[in-house]
Amino acid sequence: MSDRDGYIWYDGKMVPWREATTHVLTYTLHYGAGCFEGVRAYETPKGTAIFRLQEHTRRLFNSAKIIGMAMPWSEDELNEAQLEVLRVNQLKEAYLRPMVFYGSEGMGLRATGLKTHVIVAAWTWGSYLGADGMERGIRVKTSSFSRHYVNSSLCRAKANANYLNSSMALNEVLKDGYDEALMLDPEGYVAEGSAENIFVITNGVISTPDVTSALDGITRRTVMQLAQDMGYTVRERRITRDEVYVCDEAFFTGTAAEVTPIREIDNRPVGSGSRGPITQKLQAAYLAQVKGQSERYPEWLSHI
Ligand code: PMP
Repeated sequence: MSDRDGYIWYDGKMVPWREATTHVLTYTLHYGAGCFEGVRAYETPKGTAIFRLQEHTRRLFNSAKIIGMAMPWSEDELNEAQLEVLRVNQLKEAYLRPMVFYGSEGMGLRATGLKTHVIVAAWTWGSYLGADGMERGIRVKTSSFSRHYVNSSLCRAKANANYLNSSMALNEVLKDGYDEALMLDPEGYVAEGSAENIFVITNGVISTPDVTSALDGITRRTVMQLAQDMGYTVRERRITRDEVYVCDEAFFTGTAAEVTPIREIDNRPVGSGSRGPITQKLQAAYLAQVKGQSERYPEWLSHI
């Protein structure tokens, strides 16, 4: 990833990709105190546009606030930085990664005078869970690791350190031949995937866990809105593991994963064992929205 052409926005400057480095004593590398975003830009009939840019940047600022980092830039400045990264790298479709981290001005947890640095990188990234997964659905296994306890890792923050839990859960199930992990909260209720929110559909009613142990996903909010617009009832509530076993349809949502159907959970078929009909409709509605093929919600697209 580090050896490629292009530019990364780094503390206000466009730095050649290979030179966008940092010192090994960077505080965030040691302690995980940082926050980031995952954002996507799509090609639309009116040119390239970033989907829900303002909401992603707002969540980045909220993440920084939660973990107590002072942001050296305004939201407008970081919105512009993201648009500029796409222009400079001449990207038509891209995944964007803004990240906020402390520098190497001091070591030890008690270090003071740390500088906050910000980068924005962008690159072309296809379907996170594969084109086949988008069509047929993916195979999911419940993780042996619990998701965050509400008062230890504050999961409304998309904080770097929260992703050790995700990484361990994901790698465990990948080694066992599954595509993604389902994570339960410390009480055993369904929380989310390692990098996605989850939805289940039973008797036409769409449900998703609330966000006590899951990230407040922007795709989650988007899909809830689109589903309500299509006339579906959408509920935020506690969901049990066995409810996923017997639901009619299930899917994951995320900026990277978009709307990915779940065809199997813990070696049991979900519904018919393929992408369900409501999931298919929501997936199509989501993709039409992000690609600017729908007239609805033009404010969700920021053109470069
Ligand atoms: N949960 C976790 C843990 C994630 O990392 C992500 C991806 N950002 C999501 C949910 C989905 O969030 P969003 O739809 O905002 O990408």
